[in-house]
Amino acid sequence: MKYEPVIGLEIHTELKTKTKMFCYSLNDPNEKHPNTNVCQVCMGYPGTLPTINWEAVKKVMMVGLALNGEVNKFSQFDRKNYFYPDLPKGYQISQYQHPLVVGGKLKIGDRDIRIRRIHLEEDTGRLIHEAGGPSTSSGQRATLVDFNRAGVPLMELVTEPDFRFAEEIKKFGEEYQKILRYLQASDADMEKGQMRIEVNLSLRQIRNPKSEILNKSQTPNSNDQNKLGTKVELKNINSFKFAADAIDFEIKRQTEILDRGEKIIHETRGWNESKKETFSQRTKEEEHDYRYFPEPDLPPLEISEDMIEEIRLSLPEMPSAKEKRFVKEYGLEESVAEIVARDKGLADYFEAAVSELRQADIDTPEKPKMKLEKLAATFLTGDFLRLLNEKLEPISEVLITPENFAELMILVAESKISGLVAKQVLEEMFAHGEDPSDIIEKLGLWQMSDAGDIEDIIKHILKENPQVVEDYKKGKTASLQFLIGQVMKESRGKANPKMVQEILVKILK
Ligand code: ADP
Ligand code: MG
Repeated sequence: MKYEPVIGLEIHTELKTKTKMFCYSLNDPNEKHPNTNVCQVCMGYPGTLPTINWEAVKKVMMVGLALNGEVNKFSQFDRKNYFYPDLPKGYQISQYQHPLVVGGKLKIGDRDIRIRRIHLEEDTGRLIHEAGGPSTSSGQRATLVDFNRAGVPLMELVTEPDFRFAEEIKKFGEEYQKILRYLQASDADMEKGQMRIEVNLSLRQIRNPKSEILNKSQTPNSNDQNKLGTKVELKNINSFKFAADAIDFEIKRQTEILDRGEKIIHETRGWNESKKETFSQRTKEEEHDYRYFPEPDLPPLEISEDMIEEIRLSLPEMPSAKEKRFVKEYGLEESVAEIVARDKGLADYFEAAVSELRQADIDTPEKPKMKLEKLAATFLTGDFLRLLNEKLEPISEVLITPENFAELMILVAESKISGLVAKQVLEEMFAHGEDPSDIIEKLGLWQMSDAGDIEDIIKHILKENPQVVEDYKKGKTASLQFLIGQVMKESRGKANPKMVQEILVKILK
């Protein structure tokens, strides 16, 4: 039997805000000391009252509008009642019937994944089951509770069941992450638990495999819903890689069950990373009745058309649009444009450097400006990013101004220094932020273009490598590259590579 996977996602993200969702305790994910950022409200003391954090509401609106969703002018908070030690009130304030955002879509490749809703709720505290922690009088290990995270604004996005392949989850997740970072809505770091994915997966029988494959770019509409199989919800997934592994495992497991003519149990399953398998956590029959009802301590959220428009107008260009523009406007390769546009800081830096390059008066007529912009992008995504990552520095802290970076690119384009030397200069600039010409002057790294000086180095290298010279004369062309490399090395990258090649060939004739 042939089956097609049908997958929908629920993604929780902790929002980056100054304070928590319903009180004035700090929302600080880096707080090391437990139970520091807490107050009577987020600790659930009786008689306290919540207030709405509009910074969080606005961030969800931004995300919703960026994904082409519709902001509901009327939405409402609801109580979701359940007991757990990390939930001191005995209920979570969430949104159920009237979410803040409905609809929307996100394109991955050439397919739209439809968004069903985005709503706002509060995070729970964190349970700590550390080995070596305190134990109870009967000798059992005790569990500790840290409420720093309790009440942190949490945004939940729910997609339609539009995914068909495990790889699409990663693509969607990464694109969504980029957007959240562009909007400064969240850092969305999965390892830190700032973004958490739940995967809903079912299989449906393919009656006519050929036509289904032809139609794979289409998404099912609501009429297809009744054809969908029983879904399983996968939890505890903290990376896109694990999501893909869990999906692959689950497709196999469900296929075997269906092939035996048995039924899929509607349940929640966890992912065991060391065993690389999913395991049953609870069946839906046991699922809690949350007894949702409108939160009596908060007014409904009423949002004006003006406010929606104001936020819509404030949205920055989205990463995918920027990427396309970089290809069109600056002639960047798609893969390079993707890296430059991935981070808004880097993209802004690139464009600041480009505006310098466009104003520059460059005396290399054979090098059009477009090439200069590509050169800048290559350096930024190569050595520049490498140095940035080594220092674990955000781009805003970099000592090199876009002006100085552009100047360095111009020196390379004008062949005043080689690419090799430019790398060295870039490292110096990273450390001290100086002007590139000053560094080149100080370290004596200007390009060597005197034929006599270059010839001296060549003669020295030829004398040291008689065997290579012989090989070359016997027809081994690779030997020439080796000799050029040696000359460049001897000159500390300063020799003009074009001249080195010309002179070498002439001498070796
Ligand atoms: P529940 O009420 O069990 O939470 P929902 O209908 O709210 O289920 O959907 C939750 C998520 O599951 C959504 O992302 C949705 O796209 C997805 N989903 C719904 N039905 C299916 C199905 N049959 N197969 C796979 N995913 C599904
Ligand atoms: Mg659900």
